[in-house]
Amino acid sequence: MDLFEYQGKQYFAQFGIPVSPGGEADTVDEAVAQAEKIGYPVVVKAQVRVGGRGKAGGIKLANNADEVREHAGNILGMDIKGHIVRRVWIELSSDIAKEYYVSFTLDRPNKVYLGMLSAEGGVEIEEVAVSNPDAIIMLSIDPTVGLDLATATKWVADAKLDEQAREQAAALIVQLYTCYVDGDCDLAEINPLILTTDGIVRALDAKVTLDANASYRHPEWEVWSATDTEDPREAMAKEKGLTYIGLTGDVGIIANGAGLAMSTLDVVNQVGGEAANFLDIGGGANADVMTAALEVINADPAVKSIFVNIFGGITRVDEVAKGVIEALKRVDLKSPIVLRLDGTNAVEGRALLAEHLNENLVAEPTMLDAARTAVAMANGR
Ligand code: GDP
Ligand code: MG
Repeated sequence: MDLFEYQGKQYFAQFGIPVSPGGEADTVDEAVAQAEKIGYPVVVKAQVRVGGRGKAGGIKLANNADEVREHAGNILGMDIKGHIVRRVWIELSSDIAKEYYVSFTLDRPNKVYLGMLSAEGGVEIEEVAVSNPDAIIMLSIDPTVGLDLATATKWVADAKLDEQAREQAAALIVQLYTCYVDGDCDLAEINPLILTTDGIVRALDAKVTLDANASYRHPEWEVWSATDTEDPREAMAKEKGLTYIGLTGDVGIIANGAGLAMSTLDVVNQVGGEAANFLDIGGGANADVMTAALEVINADPAVKSIFVNIFGGITRVDEVAKGVIEALKRVDLKSPIVLRLDGTNAVEGRALLAEHLNENLVAEPTMLDAARTAVAMANGR
């Protein structure tokens, strides 16, 4: 789960990382009210999950209420790289002397955490990596050892952060590491980490990706997951506990297992169609799960046909067939449906289905046949 900047900063603050005081706003009036509370000058910052907001005009300095009104009015509703701004973050403006970069992420092949630190922050780190790779000092951290203050102190010196910033930066970096590990982040990035003209080091931006697999031990994430999905189809699927990703085609997909679901997308593509979604119903394809899956797909106006691709392993196909039959009674489907059921007890499963088949409920023996039929149906043939 990717956090918005203001959420990332709230998370940072929980780990003691210094950030500027600020508040969020969804309307121009709220923005002004926040600014009045904080005191001027403030920065009005677009909240979208994409970098380069500054360059796109999504970050503006305001010295008084009129300027907040003007900038918030321009930024709310703005399209930044395809992301519409629905919320702004108003924070006390900082006088910046220097901009640095720091991040922690996972170095999977080497089974270590990877820290990156640079005295050349502010710009996109990818640019620094190309134009001046030596300016990024990498640090591999053994997860069983962790990162102590002594190592962080050496690191900030190696990266040539300004003398004045080093002590505070080293302490902050240890806090960021704690946030990354104890806070179950996949990524914790600060760009820029600033040194102010009066000698304070703090996080001016926050890019945090939380590891959704750890959500069970973080009830405090709940408030953020509400803002996590913008696609209404994904929001509905999430509510029903389904693993769903909205796509742009017109063939609705239901499969059991992520691997089979991905293969299904490929096969639909191979025969000239395009999937409307990825949907993995997991192992137990009972009537409740199948009903939930069909309801989500049925609610998608783009869907013209539905391809149900189930391979029975531990889950027996006759059980799946019963689930499908029961689900079809509960959902009033708008689109025809093509079934490919194979695996354990496939013969029994197909037999159960046989009497229910009609022009809007078709069974095919193979995945490829089913994909062809589903695509043809989507094309109105
Ligand atoms: P990004 O463009 O999406 O990465 O957004 P950032 O939050 O990193 O801001 C981009 C740039 O805007 C920073 O590198 C700063 O140069 C500038 N900026 C952001 N906040 C302030 C502030 O409080 N004061 C000043 N002077 N500049 C700021
Ligand atoms: Mg930034």
